Amino acid sequence: MSKTIFEKILDKEIPAELVHEDDFTVAFKDVAPQAPVHVLVIPRKKLVNVASSSPGDIETLGHVLNAARIVAEKMGIAESGYRLVLNNNRDGGQSVDYLHCHVIGGRALAWPPG
Ligand code: AMP
Repeated sequence: MSKTIFEKILDKEIPAELVHEDDFTVAFKDVAPQAPVHVLVIPRKKLVNVASSSPGDIETLGHVLNAARIVAEKMGIAESGYRLVLNNNRDGGQSVDYLHCHVIGGRALAWPPG
């Protein structure tokens, strides 16, 4: 099966503006930001999405959320607030089949989403 764009970023085949990396995750700026801060956190271990994950993936999912917290602190939006989004499958608006957590902030965000 062909690599997703995020696997190519992990393998350094295409560039990305990294804002954080650790043993479990990589975080980089979204190429089409929807807010002043828009970063994507992905796990180094491949998961397609939360919908297809299992209890054996709990650690990986936890590392993604922990990295999202670190990203928000690094980007200076921890106090003002931010939104974490994990789109799943078609109706969820998932366009890249590699689990990614959007960290979005830097402005007031509307609720509910459209
Ligand atoms: P989703 O719709 O939840 O699957 O989100 C995919 C996100 O990936 C979108 O916000 C895109 O703007 C973003 N994206 C796609 N290609 C790249 C890339 N090469 N570098 C950074 N972000 C990307």
